[in-house]
Amino acid sequence: MTEDHLDGNAAGGGLREVFAVDLTAATGQCSNCSQALVLAESLLYTRAPGLVARCPGCEAVLFRLVRGPGRAWLDLRGMTCLQFALPDGS
Ligand SMILES: [Zn+2]
Repeated sequence: MTEDHLDGNAAGGGLREVFAVDLTAATGQCSNCSQALVLAESLLYTRAPGLVARCPGCEAVLFRLVRGPGRAWLDLRGMTCLQFALPDGS
């Protein structure tokens, strides 16, 4: 660790807040075709090891979520950015 940055533990509070919200109403953009979409509009496949969401425009994978005992794996590389509502902090 150098003086100009902190280690990833410092992001713990912000990430905890972000991942505690319902993201189905979040908006994002497909990394493959650039279509803007609401996450709830994605094509969800559940007959896989976990959940696989695909773009309704080009069917590219938007995200994968796999749950295991005591842990989860989330791959969001198919989306450029997610925007979602958060309650204002204090
Ligand atoms: Zn797409």
